[in-house]
Amino acid sequence: MKVGILGGGQLGRMLLQAAANYTVETYVLENDVNCPSAHLCHHFIKGDITDFDAVYAFGKQLDAITIEIESVNVDALEKLQSEGVKIYPSPAAIRTIKNKVVQKQFYKDHGIPSSAFIITNSKEEVMQHLSFLPAVHKIGEGGYDGKGVQVLNTAADLEKAFHASSVLEKKVAIKKEIALIVAMNDKGETALFPASEMMVNPVLNLLDYQVSPALIPEKVLWVVEAVAVKLVKALNSPGLFAVEMFIDQQDEVWVNETAPRVHNSGHHTIEANYSSQYDMLWRIILQYPLGNTDPILPAAIVNIIGEEGFTGEAIYEGLAEVLKTDNVFVHLYGKSTTKPGRKMGHVTIMHKDYQDLTYKANKIKNTLKVTAR
Ligand code: ADP
Repeated sequence: MKVGILGGGQLGRMLLQAAANYTVETYVLENDVNCPSAHLCHHFIKGDITDFDAVYAFGKQLDAITIEIESVNVDALEKLQSEGVKIYPSPAAIRTIKNKVVQKQFYKDHGIPSSAFIITNSKEEVMQHLSFLPAVHKIGEGGYDGKGVQVLNTAADLEKAFHASSVLEKKVAIKKEIALIVAMNDKGETALFPASEMMVNPVLNLLDYQVSPALIPEKVLWVVEAVAVKLVKALNSPGLFAVEMFIDQQDEVWVNETAPRVHNSGHHTIEANYSSQYDMLWRIILQYPLGNTDPILPAAIVNIIGEEGFTGEAIYEGLAEVLKTDNVFVHLYGKSTTKPGRKMGHVTIMHKDYQDLTYKANKIKNTLKVTAR
């Protein structure tokens, strides 16, 4: 089969690593010729994934297409689908998810628990909803890695509101942030990965550190799993979906957002689960049976992020020290230049004891630094 990936970032790179185990000819469409995926695919095509003609021309030669980022040209995918190219996930699911206003409305329409919200189109409109605060303002399109999200606690924060189509949603009193990856094949069969639990760096708003399986009571986990499966069935699309959820102080479960693709919350599955999220997506695309999602051991993920104050050719300080540690797996994404906050790689740590995971994760965070020449 000839399968294309829209986007050439680290998620695409790890997807391509998993593809090497199967008989599949891989194609990547991406503007940056030095992107993390460029040298791991069979065919690299330079082009803009948001451009109709580029995506259509790319897809016409292929049997199937998947994505590693949502900001793609959905019109082109729809046309390709109508001409017989298989798209994972369906263009309709991408359309629902890529705009946060549409995504929130979808949850409401399908009885998926997600915090109450108001749709706003300008700063002035947000100012009319003072009584709705504390709230979180999210831009409909174009936000990523926390850049399209502003917490509005009081009237003093209103100047941070977006002057664009956005959702103003009630702030959840978060006890835990978790993510659950659900795989669904063409027959509608599903497989669930164990939930992951994350901590967020409040300054950068990037995923900071994560453990899996999440340490949550069984009864809460049942709700988490039921909500995630209901959501993916409602999307009615084959593919791999990462459902990000909040557990609040009362142990209620709220969907934050969904990613219709392989996800940073599932990096550890490469080593820590029998079938990784990347392997699973290939099984779906290539029409093989779903894989075994059982954990081999509990795992933690530490992101390797570009250090503040350094821009340029990347240097990985402390790498040798980290590589000396048992049951630690380093993944560098092949990005030649670093800048503050840029995701440069991740480290997976495996151990049966969660305290050991936490200890090693902290140690690695303090040892491994990305600076520049
Ligand atoms: P992005 O798509 O940029 O990752 P998210 O929608 O995941 O943005 O929001 C980023 C972070 O903001 C979340 O991980 C969470 O910590 C916080 N957040 C988002 N929505 C809410 C909410 N309704 N209540 C409380 N915190 C929220």
